Amino acid sequence: MIAEREGRPGKIVCVGRNYADHARELDNEVPERPLIFLKPPSAVVGPGEAIVLPAASDRVEHEAEIGAVVARRLKGVDRPEAIRGLAGAVPANDVTARDLQRADGQWTRAKGFDTFCPLGADVVPLDSADAWRSLEVTCRVNGELRQHGRAADMVFDVARLVSYVSGIMTLEPGDVVLTGTPAGVGPLEEGDEVTVEIPGVGEVANPVARP
Ligand code: ZN
Repeated sequence: MIAEREGRPGKIVCVGRNYADHARELDNEVPERPLIFLKPPSAVVGPGEAIVLPAASDRVEHEAEIGAVVARRLKGVDRPEAIRGLAGAVPANDVTARDLQRADGQWTRAKGFDTFCPLGADVVPLDSADAWRSLEVTCRVNGELRQHGRAADMVFDVARLVSYVSGIMTLEPGDVVLTGTPAGVGPLEEGDEVTVEIPGVGEVANPVARP
């Protein structure tokens, strides 16, 4: 049964460089352990809401990602328990001001602007680690395919990511774990329409605007 995602998550935990092809396109090494960071809940917007380009950045990019929505409190859980503790998958866009990310070194500003976390409206349950590994994610800008990734190509799969994060911070119901983006990230311009789709799960489409 498909559930509607309710309100804003308490936190959004993200993973950097989790697809080898994307790490390479930005001249980064694949990390030895998951490289995690946070996006603020205030960044979340739903389908159809505008991504607002901040004046502080000259280079805002899309990052199509598979989001994992947490169903129950998870603290220090193993991989099977991590999968059982998820409500399901949701399409997500980890919008990033790439120039500010490079300038700052740490990523809070670059990834934390209001509207920088479009999430799909529906959460689709998946009952096994294999079901999570079978997912794919695409990004289209104005209908043109920009990104296409397979969860099977993740450096750290969803079970391992959620287990790892739960050993650092307690995951609460409604929290979202974003699982990294495949190659093909690129700039967004005013007037674009950007769509992240997980085939079989759903999509989130958003216009791009100036303030
Ligand atoms: Zn990302």
